Amino acid sequence: MKFVILLIIVLAVLVWFQRLKKNLVERARQATQAAEQYRRNAEAAAAANSSGATGQASVGGASPQVETMVACAHCGLHFPASEAVTDHSGAIFCSEEHRRLQVAERTRAP
Ligand SMILES: [Zn+2]
Repeated sequence: MKFVILLIIVLAVLVWFQRLKKNLVERARQATQAAEQYRRNAEAAAAANSSGATGQASVGGASPQVETMVACAHCGLHFPASEAVTDHSGAIFCSEEHRRLQVAERTRAP
Protein backbone atom coordinates (compact mmCIF):
# COMPACT_ATOMS: atom_id res chain seq x y z
CA MET A 1 0.00 0.00 0.00
CA LYS A 2 2.82 2.42 0.86
CA PHE A 3 4.39 1.68 -2.48
CA VAL A 4 1.19 2.61 -4.37
CA ILE A 5 0.93 5.94 -2.56
CA LEU A 6 4.56 6.68 -3.37
CA LEU A 7 3.95 5.76 -7.00
CA ILE A 8 0.95 8.12 -7.18
CA ILE A 9 2.99 10.96 -5.67
CA VAL A 10 5.84 10.37 -8.13
CA LEU A 11 3.35 10.30 -11.03
CA ALA A 12 1.74 13.50 -9.82
CA VAL A 13 5.13 15.20 -9.58
CA LEU A 14 5.99 13.97 -13.07
CA VAL A 15 2.74 15.30 -14.52
CA TRP A 16 3.23 18.60 -12.73
CA PHE A 17 6.78 18.87 -14.10
CA GLN A 18 5.62 18.12 -17.62
CA ARG A 19 2.87 20.72 -17.39
CA LEU A 20 5.41 23.28 -16.12
CA LYS A 21 7.77 22.40 -18.96
CA LYS A 22 4.96 22.73 -21.51
CA ASN A 23 4.06 26.09 -20.05
CA LEU A 24 7.63 27.33 -20.33
CA VAL A 25 7.94 26.11 -23.92
CA GLU A 26 4.65 27.79 -24.80
CA ARG A 27 5.77 31.03 -23.20
CA ALA A 28 9.11 30.88 -25.01
CA ARG A 29 7.33 30.28 -28.32
CA GLN A 30 5.04 33.24 -27.69
CA ALA A 31 8.04 35.45 -26.93
CA THR A 32 9.76 34.27 -30.10
CA GLN A 33 6.64 34.99 -32.13
CA ALA A 34 6.36 38.45 -30.60
CA ALA A 35 10.01 39.15 -31.39
CA GLU A 36 9.52 37.90 -34.95
CA GLN A 37 6.46 40.12 -35.36
CA TYR A 38 8.38 43.11 -34.00
CA ARG A 39 11.30 42.42 -36.37
CA ARG A 40 8.89 42.16 -39.31
CA ASN A 41 7.27 45.47 -38.37
CA ALA A 42 10.65 47.15 -38.06
CA GLU A 43 11.72 45.79 -41.44
CA ALA A 44 8.49 47.02 -43.04
CA ALA A 45 8.99 50.45 -41.49
CA ALA A 46 12.60 50.57 -42.68
CA ALA A 47 11.55 49.57 -46.18
CA ALA A 48 8.87 52.28 -46.20
CA ASN A 49 11.42 54.83 -45.00
CA SER A 50 14.09 53.94 -47.55
CA SER A 51 11.60 54.03 -50.42
CA GLY A 52 10.14 57.32 -49.25
CA ALA A 53 12.44 59.91 -47.71
CA THR A 54 16.11 59.49 -48.60
CA GLY A 55 19.06 61.12 -46.86
CA GLN A 56 17.28 61.35 -43.53
CA ALA A 57 20.44 60.30 -41.70
CA SER A 58 22.37 63.35 -42.92
CA VAL A 59 19.96 65.77 -41.22
CA GLY A 60 21.54 65.39 -37.79
CA GLY A 61 25.10 65.49 -39.14
CA ALA A 62 25.23 69.23 -39.86
CA SER A 63 28.33 70.77 -38.33
CA PRO A 64 27.85 73.93 -36.28
CA GLN A 65 28.76 77.19 -38.01
CA VAL A 66 32.27 78.34 -37.14
CA GLU A 67 32.44 82.11 -36.82
CA THR A 68 35.48 84.17 -37.74
CA MET A 69 37.09 85.85 -34.76
CA VAL A 70 38.47 89.38 -35.04
CA ALA A 71 40.48 91.55 -32.65
CA CYS A 72 39.42 94.95 -31.42
CA ALA A 73 41.73 97.75 -32.64
CA HIS A 74 41.38 99.55 -29.32
CA CYS A 75 41.63 96.89 -26.58
CA GLY A 76 42.77 93.81 -28.54
CA LEU A 77 39.84 91.66 -27.40
CA HIS A 78 38.90 88.79 -29.74
CA PHE A 79 35.22 88.49 -30.57
CA PRO A 80 32.97 87.14 -33.38
CA ALA A 81 33.10 89.15 -36.60
CA SER A 82 29.31 89.48 -36.63
CA GLU A 83 29.51 91.67 -33.50
CA ALA A 84 32.21 93.91 -34.96
CA VAL A 85 31.87 97.67 -35.14
CA THR A 86 33.90 99.31 -37.93
CA ASP A 87 34.81 102.91 -38.52
CA HIS A 88 35.28 104.77 -41.84
CA SER A 89 38.90 103.54 -42.19
CA GLY A 90 37.82 99.88 -41.83
CA ALA A 91 39.29 99.34 -38.35
CA ILE A 92 37.42 96.77 -36.25
CA PHE A 93 36.23 97.42 -32.70
CA CYS A 94 34.44 95.30 -30.10
CA SER A 95 31.95 98.05 -29.27
CA GLU A 96 30.69 101.45 -30.30
CA GLU A 97 32.38 102.93 -27.23
CA HIS A 98 35.84 101.64 -28.23
CA ARG A 99 35.33 102.96 -31.76
CA ARG A 100 34.49 106.37 -30.27
CA LEU A 101 37.48 106.24 -27.89
CA GLN A 102 39.83 105.30 -30.73
CA VAL A 103 38.55 108.15 -32.91
CA ALA A 104 38.90 110.58 -29.97
CA GLU A 105 42.48 109.41 -29.38
CA ARG A 106 43.33 109.80 -33.06
CA THR A 107 41.91 113.30 -33.27
CA ARG A 108 43.69 114.34 -30.06
CA ALA A 109 47.09 113.12 -31.25
CA PRO A 110 49.05 115.53 -33.52
ZN1 LIG B 1 37.58 96.86 -27.58
